[in-house]
Amino acid sequence: MSVTAAQSLTRAQLLDLLDRQIDTAGAGHNLALLLFDLRDFRRINAGYGQRVGDAVLAAAAERIRQVLRPGDPLFYLGHDEFAVLLLALKTPQVAELAMQKIHAAISGRHTAGGLELAVAVRCGGAVYPLHASNGQALLQAADMALYQAKMQQQERMLYEKCQGWGGHQQLELQLELAQALNDNRLKLYYQPQFDLQRGRVHGFETLLRWYHAEHGWISPEVFIAVAERSELIDQLSTWTFNTAMREQRRLHDILPRTALAINLSPCLLNDREIVTLVHGIMNIWGTPPETLVLEITENAMMTDPARALCILEALHDLGIRLSIDDFGTGYSSLAYLQRLPVDELKIDKTFVLDMVHNQHNRQIVQSVIDLAHNLGMHVVAEGIEDAQTRNMLVAMGCDYGQGYHFARPLPLTELCERLPALADSDKGVADSQSDCQDRA
Ligand code: C2E
Ligand code: CA
Ligand code: CA
Repeated sequence: MSVTAAQSLTRAQLLDLLDRQIDTAGAGHNLALLLFDLRDFRRINAGYGQRVGDAVLAAAAERIRQVLRPGDPLFYLGHDEFAVLLLALKTPQVAELAMQKIHAAISGRHTAGGLELAVAVRCGGAVYPLHASNGQALLQAADMALYQAKMQQQERMLYEKCQGWGGHQQLELQLELAQALNDNRLKLYYQPQFDLQRGRVHGFETLLRWYHAEHGWISPEVFIAVAERSELIDQLSTWTFNTAMREQRRLHDILPRTALAINLSPCLLNDREIVTLVHGIMNIWGTPPETLVLEITENAMMTDPARALCILEALHDLGIRLSIDDFGTGYSSLAYLQRLPVDELKIDKTFVLDMVHNQHNRQIVQSVIDLAHNLGMHVVAEGIEDAQTRNMLVAMGCDYGQGYHFARPLPLTELCERLPALADSDKGVADSQSDCQDRA
């Protein structure tokens, strides 16, 4: 049968398409495959006939379509199965949120063929490249997740394999992270942000670094996720805020009043304690509030939007500026974003990296710049790796930018040594031999 809102595909065709998408997406781009199947579909078909069964499928497809971002394709794989491809997504958490949203949209009562029927759905998902390195492995991982969801009587499940860290290793990593924090072995690196229109240093983004004696550099996305699953995230965030605001004084000795952006972990938006904590640390170090920027991802605000709004307003009332990180990759609603006391949108690097050659991404970048300006916000582009991209962004009216073209994230001492030269040049230390991994 055909389902109007979804393109019908065989599994072999889906595999082909996954491989093609992975090829075009290239390194550094995430995509997620979500599989859904309708529970009890056989019962509906048998009990009410195929006409009603088909109407249920069509209604389910329509509901999925309505909550998908434009551009994320929906496929009907036959029988009771659908697949969704999420393109250009930032983290596995985004896939989880999308699953949640689609699940909520399909579950419930559907009117089909004049009857009102209860429909339930199960979902399994996997993310490239986190869980799989090619189309076949991605499809297998998503299948496995769906199978596990069935076995464990769960409604949805994401393939759990956090960059090779299995359950046992995660626990070990958690203990080692706690030890590293206690021993003060974590570091903050700083990546300069440039005022693109004036060609000068505007501020810095702080990025956490952990060098593990056995595993080498561990991605902050991995160890922050580990911290977020335990109570370590509170200690880690306190350490980050305290260190960043202390070290900002050294940066201000060289370039007074430059901004410092700190990433805020989504789970901190559940508790007003964060307001007291940030305020307390600002008082200790005498941080001018207008030089502090908190970066929050779109999705961070969607778990409990009312509470997040209340906390963000309190932070904003302290004089701190707020920035929406990874803008364009998430699932927030524009109507909600407009209500937030936000000063800045940060265009995710997935759109910036290939914008010179990819017209679609260039259009997205231009739309975000226009949207930000129309809402009275500034806009920052991340992931500027060459002069051509920089020039294009300048011409498009982008306010600020950061990326390897200017400078990689640097440890404080190295940054301070290079800052006078950096401040004089709008090219910065793009040719830095400081490291090839940006973390050495
Ligand atoms: P993010 O906030 O989107 O950070 C930008 C990431 O892009 C950083 O990766 C940075 O090193 C990288 N980057 C900067 N310029 C370029 C470029 O020109 N090209 C490319 N390809 N990449 C560039 P990093 O440091 O590995 O951080 C990854 C993520 O980890 C961050 O993404 C953020 O979500 C999280 N993270 C890092 N530090 C912290 C922190 O202190 N707190 C929290 N909550 N999250 C953090
Ligand atoms: Ca950030
Ligand atoms: Ca980003």
